[in-house]
Parts: sequence; C-alpha cells; structure tokens
Amino acid sequence: MANLVESQRWFEKALTLMPGGVNSPVRGWGAVGLTPPPLIARGAGSRVYDVDGNSYLDFVGSWGPLILGHAVPEVVAAVQEAASRGLGFGATTPGEVELAQLLVEAVPSLEMVRLVTSGTEACMSALRLARGATGRARVIKFDGCYHGHADSFLVAAGSGVLTQAIPGSPGVPAEIAALTLSLPYNDLEAVQEAVKRHAGEIAAIIVEPVAGNMGVVLPREGFLEGLRQLCHQEDIILIFDEVISGFRAAWGGAQARYRVKPDLTCLGKIIAGGLPVAAYGGRRERMSPVAPSGPIYQAGTLSGNPVAVAAGLATLKALQRAGTYEQLEEKGAWLEAELVRAAARGGAEITVNRAGSLLTLFFCRGPVNDLEDAKKSDLNRFRQFFQGMLAQGIYLPPSQFEAWFISLAHGAEDLEATAAAAREVWGR
Ligand SMILES: *Cc1c(COP(=O)(O)O)cnc(C)c1O
Repeated sequence: MANLVESQRWFEKALTLMPGGVNSPVRGWGAVGLTPPPLIARGAGSRVYDVDGNSYLDFVGSWGPLILGHAVPEVVAAVQEAASRGLGFGATTPGEVELAQLLVEAVPSLEMVRLVTSGTEACMSALRLARGATGRARVIKFDGCYHGHADSFLVAAGSGVLTQAIPGSPGVPAEIAALTLSLPYNDLEAVQEAVKRHAGEIAAIIVEPVAGNMGVVLPREGFLEGLRQLCHQEDIILIFDEVISGFRAAWGGAQARYRVKPDLTCLGKIIAGGLPVAAYGGRRERMSPVAPSGPIYQAGTLSGNPVAVAAGLATLKALQRAGTYEQLEEKGAWLEAELVRAAARGGAEITVNRAGSLLTLFFCRGPVNDLEDAKKSDLNRFRQFFQGMLAQGIYLPPSQFEAWFISLAHGAEDLEATAAAAREVWGR
C-alpha cells in the first residue's frame, strides 16, 4: 500500500476538529474499510495527488462537477480573472445573466432560472415553489434517489412506504417525513397507486431522471414519460433533479437524452465546474411566483457568486465545443466493454449500468433497476475490488452506491490503465 504518513497525521487532527474528520460523510472511506483516506493536495487533468506525494487516476471528479478534469487551465484562468475583479457584490453581475442564458438555451424545459449555492438548496427551493404553487404538501420521491439533505428528502422507505414514511435521519421531524412518500424507482404502478390514494394532496414528484446516488440506475422505457403524463393529469409538479445528470447525461441533461420535459429542473455540480453554484428553473410562468417577482421566498447572500459563475461559464463553454459528448460516450463505452470483458475472463459476476460518462459496476447479476436490485451487490467483493484498484493507483468512489465520473481529461492510456488494473484484480 501507498505511504500515507502525512495523510494519517492530517486525518488524526481532522478527527478532533470535524465530525468523522470530514465535511461531507462520503469522504470518510468507512465503507471501503480504509483509514486514513488520502488527504488531497492537488489535482491536474485526470489525476489527484495526496499530501504524501502519491498519485491517483481519479474517477470521483469532485463527485461530478469536474467533467473537464482537474485544474483545467482555461477554467483556472477564468476564475483568476473574475477574482481579480472582486469576490462578490451582493448585486447582479453580467456573468450571472450569461450563465442563466446558457442554461436556458441548453436545457429544453428551462425559460427562467434562479441561481443558488448548492444542489441541496436547489431541490429544497424547487419543492417549496411546487408546494407554494399547488397549495399542497405531499411529495413523492424514489428509494435510492438523493436530493440533498433537506428534511423532506431524508426519508428512507420501509416496505409499507405508502402509509408509513419514516425519518431517514434523527432530527427530521416525523410530521415532515410523513409528507414524503418514497417509492421504488422505475415502478410507475406504485406511483399511480400513491397518487390515487392521496388524490389532490401531492404537490410534486421529484426524480433523478438518470439515478446516480444508488449507483447508476437508468430509467426504464416509459417511466419518465409515465411520470410526465400522470403529473399532467393530476396537476402535480414534475421535478427533475439533474444535479448529476445535467450536462452529463447529455448537453441538455437527461431531459434532452430521453425527451421528457419536467416542470422544474434542479442543476448543480457541472454548471459551476467545481465551485459552488446550483440552480432551479422552469417555464417563465412557473418561476415568476419566486420572490421578488412573487411571494414564494428564497434568497442567498452568495447566490450566483461571480467567481463561481466564471468557473461554470468557462466549463460549459468548453463542453459546448463540437464532439465533447461523443468523446465522453466513447470513453464510457470503451471502459464498460473492457470491465465486462475482464470480469467475464476472471469469472466475476458483475453488472455495469452506464449513461455516457457516468457508470457503476455492481457485483451481482443484473438487471439493476432500483434500490432493491442495487442492494444485491456483494459489498465484500466491492471492497476488495476498490482496494485492489487503489493499490494500483486507481481512485474510485469509495462506495458501491455512487457513480464513477469519467472526464474529458481521461485519455486512452488512463482508461487502458484502469482496465488493466481491473484485469489484475480479477485475474488473481
Ligand atoms: C449532489 C446531489 C445533490 C446535492 O447537491 P449538493 O451540492 O451536494 O447539496 C442533489 N441531487 C443530486 C441528484 C445530487 O447528485
């Protein structure tokens, strides 16, 4: 194993200062049985470097935003240039208008957006808008989908999920959790039944149109279309949480890839290229009730921060060049095929789910269509695979239930090194 002396020193100190030594739970590496996690000093292109000087080929990409890779010169230059003009003003800047324009042009269902600071905030605000617009309180989400950590979304599903929502986290009042119904992903019938049972009470259905937070799970044919139709019929607001899939599943997000238009869309991650900006939006009439043009309150001191906006604009402009999504698709398809081939040769039973440059390798027989399927993955085998890959310098998301993020910086040699590492792990 790599020398992690400096990481150990920093992590021990971090443990005394931050819960679990981290500022977001997935960074702890508990799920892969490794401590300390490497503390990262810097990144460049497809690689990250830890404080001990070890280098890793990175498939986390800051959990999605870095679709161009780390410290890409044109993004860094845009950030430096913006920073030199001031870090923020609490007033509208031209960059915000440009970013809003770009989002509206790219994402089919958007005519107007509100920029916020995190994906959590985007989803929470979209739900408030849906509740305010419909005058209803309940929301339907799907098991294994993640929409940030607002109270309404931290609801796990038991088997009697329709009647008995249970808090997924202590601190979420049962009264709030009871308003959230969590249903199996891809199960349109369960949604129809829930909508019938709670007729006239559902404000919104929120869904990751390509799920990325139980590992990658694709929408089955007809699922998104069915949600769309049902929401039309019942005057329910359909919210696509495209915080991962926006500008990842396709330039216009999953809604462009699958040609289904939601009423509200949440964006984050890629739209700020690694800095904190997110957004929610929809048609003009749908967004106009938001303050100050309407009564539904939502605000933010750092919303649309000019430095973060500059990173987003530079990232999206680079992505806009011809051929980028074809390249991402090619990289993803190549890696998927090589992983499948290597597993078959090594006698390892796996299933790969993929949308473009987003993929997850499950250690079970497929198909993986929902959380229950995803949970069949053998976590011991995942842990061994993760450790085996890490030993060869491949830094994968340290959880079975996350996506690998391939970037434009991942070259053919990087992908070949990854496939070779997998062959090595499965060859043993
Ligand atoms: C990451 C993510 C969020 C939360 O975004 P934060 O910026 O971490 O608050 C919400 N929804 C989805 C689909 C995500 O992947």
